[in-house]
Amino acid sequence: MIPKNHPRYESLMTRELIVDGVEKGITSIHGLIAQGRGEAFDYLLGEKTTESALNAEKAAAAALLLAKKPVISVNGNVAALVPEDIIKLSGLVDAPLEVNLFHRTEERVNNILRHLRSLGAKNLCTKSDAQIPALSHERGKVDSDGIFSADVVLVPLEDGDRCKALVDMGKTVIAIDLNPLSRTAQCASITIVDNITRAVPNISGFAEELKNSKKNALLKLVDEFDNRKNLSDAVNEVLAHLASYKY
Ligand code: ATP
Ligand code: MG
Repeated sequence: MIPKNHPRYESLMTRELIVDGVEKGITSIHGLIAQGRGEAFDYLLGEKTTESALNAEKAAAAALLLAKKPVISVNGNVAALVPEDIIKLSGLVDAPLEVNLFHRTEERVNNILRHLRSLGAKNLCTKSDAQIPALSHERGKVDSDGIFSADVVLVPLEDGDRCKALVDMGKTVIAIDLNPLSRTAQCASITIVDNITRAVPNISGFAEELKNSKKNALLKLVDEFDNRKNLSDAVNEVLAHLASYKY
């Protein structure tokens, strides 16, 4: 039990969720390393959603609402940390969830599907009958009616290589990655430099706010979003946070 008044309560709870995920066979052991790396970058951001992150979260919500065929990719860390939030977002923007694992095993895919279903997920892409070009067999398996044919894909935590492969297929790729310097962050169409625990509820908030907006207003939000500029803003926010830090 972690006491609620512990100064690092939220961070420790998040860590517990990932450990639980590993124990339940949902999260890969490599997920622990990914989480550790993410935590380090979150510290540098001040463990808060920055202006640039909000900007990207709003553009992401608009892109998902505009999409003809949006799909949300779910890996073991996402399933452990934000299963309810991702199911809620899936409903709000009418985007199915597809389990997509870097270290894929059928057992873990099925554990995640069972976990999501037990929490009420209904809109799921469960086939693995298509292949992302340029990726090795296991890493490139996707659903022909899901990620393979989607126009907009939300990949909360994705490997740089796979992100690039999806972009090369002509898709709009929305990535959530606390590291603004990662290959994933650099190659996505919209990069959200925020913790998934904050980012997913924020995208849902914007989706609710924007869902009755005119198509033109949504298009304007997406067109005016400049990922290079936004990533540079994210790095500057880290620098500003460090400069203001009381040593
Ligand atoms: P790349 O290949 O894109 O350069 P990487 O190999 O450095 O990335 P991985 O370890 O494959 O990255 O994936 C983990 C990524 O996910 C890291 O960039 C990390 O910052 C990010 N990450 C981990 N946990 C979270 C989280 N809870 N919220 C947001 N991002 C996270
Ligand atoms: Mg990687």
